[in-house]
Formats: sequence, structure tokens, C-alpha cells
Amino acid sequence: MKTIEQIKQYLKEYDGKPITLMEVCGSHTAAVAKFGIRGLLSDKIRLVSGPGCPVCVTPSSYIDRLIALAKQKDTCVVTFGDLLRVPGSRGSLSGAKGEGASVKMVYSPMDMLEPARENPSTTYVFAAVGFETTAPVYTLLMEQAKKQEIRNIRLLTSLKMMPPVIDHLLKDGAAIDGFLAPGHVCAVTGSDAFLPLAKAYEIPFCVAGFTAQELLIAIYCLARMAREGRAGVKNCYPSVVTADGNLTAKQKLAQYFTKQDAVWRGMGTVADSALVLREEYAQFDAGSGSLTEDCKLNPRCCCDAVLAGKMDSLSCPLFGAECTPGTPQGACMVSYEGSCYQRYLNR
Ligand code: SF4
Repeated sequence: MKTIEQIKQYLKEYDGKPITLMEVCGSHTAAVAKFGIRGLLSDKIRLVSGPGCPVCVTPSSYIDRLIALAKQKDTCVVTFGDLLRVPGSRGSLSGAKGEGASVKMVYSPMDMLEPARENPSTTYVFAAVGFETTAPVYTLLMEQAKKQEIRNIRLLTSLKMMPPVIDHLLKDGAAIDGFLAPGHVCAVTGSDAFLPLAKAYEIPFCVAGFTAQELLIAIYCLARMAREGRAGVKNCYPSVVTADGNLTAKQKLAQYFTKQDAVWRGMGTVADSALVLREEYAQFDAGSGSLTEDCKLNPRCCCDAVLAGKMDSLSCPLFGAECTPGTPQGACMVSYEGSCYQRYLNR
């Protein structure tokens, strides 16, 4: 058993083969930047951010569809705040709101039940963006709507799953030696969800928590496994994550959703990576199918390379000049969990 000081020393003095590790959780991206984790690593350990920020990977066609809905008569788009400024191909929800479109910001999808009940002639559409972590709350929303006989609630879904996109990256030849598996996602899916990938690509995964200490322990385990060529899944967040995950949440997801191919911003189509409403719940769908288009707001934005771990945000020619949190040229500079936003904040 190593002390945290010994772990820090190992990571700082690491002199094995150069390795690239990837975190694939937006909260990890934020925590790594906030705690200055990169500064605690040897030059031979490169830590890159992957497609773990749900807002960053939402394609422009989804934002365009939300804007179109918000401009429709008797329709209100309901969303978390971090989606407001994400650019579509012709502006953002925030811009549309300024022009009179109906957009409401909430802190929980449940917050839309009351206005929907009080205004039955208005259709309330929730911008259901997220990963396996967020998806279960939408099943609760639909259950409550049914129970309270509220018929004017819809979801525009852009719900994505983590294992398929990691598979996509690895199939595409991403030079990653190990993954920090997302602690929140694993709380739902269970750490075993990453076992097939670990076996197929003979690569290590370590489930990480979100404190500096938890991150360092997971990076240490990952670095050792990568250095020694050991594949497998190690759960370094056992206080929250189990091998099987949250069985109730998984049962709800299976009941309401099915898998479909999805377009990820900057990454193209990823097979079987979307959670879409099953046919029997189509009355809740605001037209989530056929969101197949994605376009760059600025052709020089390198979000695609950043999200795939091929480029560091700092290497983008627009970083900190044309592209800042006040003037974002790509989705990675919009969200609090975006890698460019975090690198800018903690530069
Ligand atoms: S710094 Fe801005 S332009 Fe460059 S990759 Fe990030 S979001 Fe895109």
C-alpha cells in the first residue's frame, strides 16, 4: 500500500516508456485542470481529454433543431444553462432567446412539470443531453408526467453512451495507453461495462473519483498497468462504483430507451452510441431522429482533434486569441466541462 506522497513521487519521477492516458469524463476534465494534476506528472505521462463533455459532443444539428422548436408557436424549449451558448450552424439558443424564442433555463428536468401542468396549451420540450449518468432522470420525468397526466412534455434527446465512443476511438487507431474511466457513468453502468473494451484492445481502465487524491491514485494505477502492459479494469472509486452498477437505473434505461447510431460533434457517426426513446414512448419524443448533420462554426476550430485526444487545446491556433470563453469558436470552449474552457480558465 503506497502513501499519497509515494504516489506523487512515482508519478513525478516516472521514467518508463512514454504513455498517453485519456480521461473521458467532463467532470474529470474540470477536476484535472482545477487541481493542476498535469503539473504533478512526469513529462513521460501525457494526460489528454477525450469526448467526455456532453455539451461539447452535441452536434450542431441538435442545436439547430432546438432553436427551430423554440421559435414555434406554443412551444417552449427547456434546458440546463450550459447548452444556451453552444453554437449551432446558425447561432445559439441564447441568441434565439434574445430574438424572442421561448427558452427556459432550469436546474432539473423535474422543474418543467409545474409550468407544463399550468400551461397545457404550450408544449414543453426538454433538451435531453447527457451520458448514461443523466439519462435515468428523464425516465423519472416521463413517469411523473404519466402519473400526473401531463401530456404536453416532450424530450429532444441527444443521449450518448461512453463505451461505444471509446471503441470508436480505439478502432480509429487512437494512440492511448490507458483510460481513466468515468466515475459518474460507472456508478450507473458498473465498472464491468468497460471489461469488453479492456479485453478486446488489451488496454487498462481505472475508474476514478473526483478529488485530487482519488485522481492521483487512479492515474498511478493506470500508469503502472500501462507501463507493465497489463490490461483490465481496476475500480479506484469503490465508495461509489460497483462492478454491476445501479441495477434500478439500468432497468429503467432498458425499459425506456434503445440503442441507435449517433452523430458526435467533430467525430462523425458512432455506431450504437445513442440512447433513443423506444417506440412505445414515442409520445414523449420531440422529433429526435435524423439529427445527422454537424458543421464547424469556425473552419479553423480543432475541436474534432481535441475531442479525439490528438491535439492539446493549447495547440489550437485560435486558443486564447480568437477563441475565449467570451468568444467561443467551438463547443469545447463553451461548457464548464469543455477541455478548451478548462485549459483557458487554468492557464
Ligand atoms: S480553442 Fe476554440 S477553436 Fe480551438 S479547438 Fe478549442 S474550441 Fe475550437
